[in-house]
Amino acid sequence: MRLEKLRQFLTEQQLDVILISQPENRRYLSGFTGSAGVLLISANRAILAADFRYYSQVANEAPAFELAKVGYEFLKHLPDLLKSLGARRVGFESAAVSVAEFEDWKKAASDVEWVPTRDLVEGLRAVKEPEELNTIRHAVALTDTAFTAVAPTIRPGMTEREVAWALETYMRTRGASGVAFEIIVASGPNGALPHYRPAERQIQPGEPIVIDMGARVDGYHSDLTRTIVLGEADAKFREIYAIVLQAQQTAESQIRAGMSARDADAIARSVIASAGYGDYFGHNLGHGVGLAIHEKPRLSALSDEVLQPGSVVTVEPGIYLPDWGGVRIEDMVVIGTDGVEVLTQAPKEF
Ligand code: ZN
Ligand code: ZN
Repeated sequence: MRLEKLRQFLTEQQLDVILISQPENRRYLSGFTGSAGVLLISANRAILAADFRYYSQVANEAPAFELAKVGYEFLKHLPDLLKSLGARRVGFESAAVSVAEFEDWKKAASDVEWVPTRDLVEGLRAVKEPEELNTIRHAVALTDTAFTAVAPTIRPGMTEREVAWALETYMRTRGASGVAFEIIVASGPNGALPHYRPAERQIQPGEPIVIDMGARVDGYHSDLTRTIVLGEADAKFREIYAIVLQAQQTAESQIRAGMSARDADAIARSVIASAGYGDYFGHNLGHGVGLAIHEKPRLSALSDEVLQPGSVVTVEPGIYLPDWGGVRIEDMVVIGTDGVEVLTQAPKEF
């Protein structure tokens, strides 16, 4: 089915073959989970060129593909592979190839026309199939459980790194193959940096702590942010938290398929702006999540995408005040025609 959809693009763009080298796209189309290899897909054939390490793995994971045993000499085999497919116009993923690699391909097969493509498979991946949604639900549930179990154990004096490790250990010992990204635990003023990395800073009572975490399960990711306080939250924190929560809840109640990604972003942004903090929400509202932690669609003022039913995205407004800290609240949702289904269940009381 996925291959059939890709083949429609081949016809539309008058390509004889497309060469897929982007790792998540390779996995999405073939099922092959190895970390190297190139797909060559034509109207009626699908070849996976891999090296010695993966010969039996390809047979197991990608039964729809013919295995081309190219060893470590893909370039040497490339002209014959293209010839066997009758290729004249050959598409490639321009965002996934280095200039050096592309020059090597062009040199090895100089008699074909190389045609750059963008976002073909990424566009397919933006709408999730039911099995993909199931896997994502598992990753989200595991992350929710980890947060809910570990958050009450955080004590003043623990370092950010200790908290990050407790969360990671929890997820990895309960089914995650890894973390979706390096867990963020940003306490006090560190929280003003949206992509801060945890350090040796000891957490103090009364300050905001931004925790941004995710799990990887069967190749799929989850993404969760909560902001908490140890002890009493002061009036400032309560004010900022209420605005961010309102921005998120407004966005989650209004986003639906058919809306532009730009309008989706604007819903939350206008809530924060009308509360007077528009200058302190400097990142996008959200992003697609799947085989990659950041993928299409992008909920951004700069996006021209239209939201489709079946996309999984984050909704993650935030306010970041230099020298004070930050508040971000992030859920994952599935977009539907009548609204969104919120996947994330972790509590939002700080
Ligand atoms: Zn996140
Ligand atoms: Zn995110």
